[in-house]
Amino acid sequence: MAFDFLQDKDRIFTNVYGFQSWDLKAAQKRGDWDNTADIIKRGNDKIINEMKESGLRGRGGAGFPTGLKWSFMPKESPDGRPSFLVINADESEPGSCKDREILRNDPHKLIEGALIAGFAMRARAAYIYIRGEYIMEAKVMEAAVKEAYDAGLIGKNAAKSGYDFDVFVHRGAGAYICGEETAMIESLEGKKGQPRLKPPFPAGAGLYGCPTTVNNVESIAVVPTIMRRGAPWFASFGRENNKGTKLFQVSGHVEKPAVFEEAMSIPFRDMIEKHCGGITGGWDNLLAVIPGGSSVPLVPAEQIMDAPMDFDGLSELKSGLGTAAVIVMDKSTDIVRAISRLSYFYKHESCGQCTPCREGTGWMWRVMERLRDGDATIEEIDTLHEVTKQVEGHTICALGDAAAWPIQGLIRHFRPELERRIRENSGAEPVMEAAE
Ligand code: NAD
Ligand code: SF4
Repeated sequence: MAFDFLQDKDRIFTNVYGFQSWDLKAAQKRGDWDNTADIIKRGNDKIINEMKESGLRGRGGAGFPTGLKWSFMPKESPDGRPSFLVINADESEPGSCKDREILRNDPHKLIEGALIAGFAMRARAAYIYIRGEYIMEAKVMEAAVKEAYDAGLIGKNAAKSGYDFDVFVHRGAGAYICGEETAMIESLEGKKGQPRLKPPFPAGAGLYGCPTTVNNVESIAVVPTIMRRGAPWFASFGRENNKGTKLFQVSGHVEKPAVFEEAMSIPFRDMIEKHCGGITGGWDNLLAVIPGGSSVPLVPAEQIMDAPMDFDGLSELKSGLGTAAVIVMDKSTDIVRAISRLSYFYKHESCGQCTPCREGTGWMWRVMERLRDGDATIEEIDTLHEVTKQVEGHTICALGDAAAWPIQGLIRHFRPELERRIRENSGAEPVMEAAE
């Protein structure tokens, strides 16, 4: 059955390419801040239920249901502590660059979303934590927040809703690990950004020990449109358990790398043909794809072609949608070198707090370097796989898993290539084998 591509009338991010101004006047012309008070007057529970019905799953990578997450926030603070919303704009996952477009081209969608989400969760304020390298984006966000304050849209009696709500922009300092929600909370508190053990989850004890929800930029920026157009409209895109529209980011060996909004579950081949002008050198030249940012395993060409680009479709292929940062690699790619570079990234970004990650990422990287150079033994491939299994699931945060999974994917799908390098480097007869 042919896929129904998203039509212009159903796009949420109508200024994703920045063809119009990001400022308040232009944003209002696009429909932002239109009777926000009416949405707020629906009440906390109604807004949260609407979010649940929309089927929105967190757009930061993990895909946790957003409405459900909001419902974990306390209805009444037992000891008078305030609640907070933290917006994760520390977009650092290699391949991910969608939140950047929202921050610099559609900041008012995010601020309005923060007010509605904050109200629904009874939060006193939102902190937008922006990755340190996003200098221009932080400037735009700060200016947009000031505009919203000046227009009475946030602050006391925000948007004439009767609700008081503040928004603060906070800049990170360039550490990938501060994108992990509890490390972000530590960093906001002025401490070294190191993840906390969960539970307790932030809704129980978050920023300054207060109930907190951490949501990704895209998850919050779609909220006003879901409220205006209704949960059934949002849920009409995609398929069961994988609803809505989504910002995809495609980089690598395609004719036109791009960030674009599409309906969830679009088949990979349709997506590349329609939005990226195809694979460089044609479809026969495709080698493999990392479909969700560097933290998910790669998928070889023959498996990804017809795969639906959503959480369940990619998890069936032992990979994931992650942030929907699709990294396309054609046959000119040295796949072992590519994954070994990612191993270096995770070793470099490990916060060093727990032993399996601190030591394991170093071990994995060093073996990957030798495999890249063909300077290892065949047995070491199994040893490396074993090390990934010792790291996976044995660390405080997901960085350990993220370091292990790309290597597992490489061994699963490209073991013959790893063995070929070793054999050729040792002077043994090359063995001609195809990747599975
Ligand atoms: P997670 O699955 O542990 O948690 C996801 C969210 O759900 C969190 O907010 C967590 O608090 C909440 N949650 C999960 N179980 C809960 C429970 N039982 N009760 C209450 N709340 C619960 O994942 P994570 O460690 O937050 O995120 C990992 C993901 O982050 C990876 O999939 C990766 O793709 C992504 N990532 C994204 C970026 C980026 O730049 N956007 C960077 C690095 C990693
Ligand atoms: Fe730090 Fe790595 Fe442990 Fe996460 S898994 S807490 S990054 S050492």
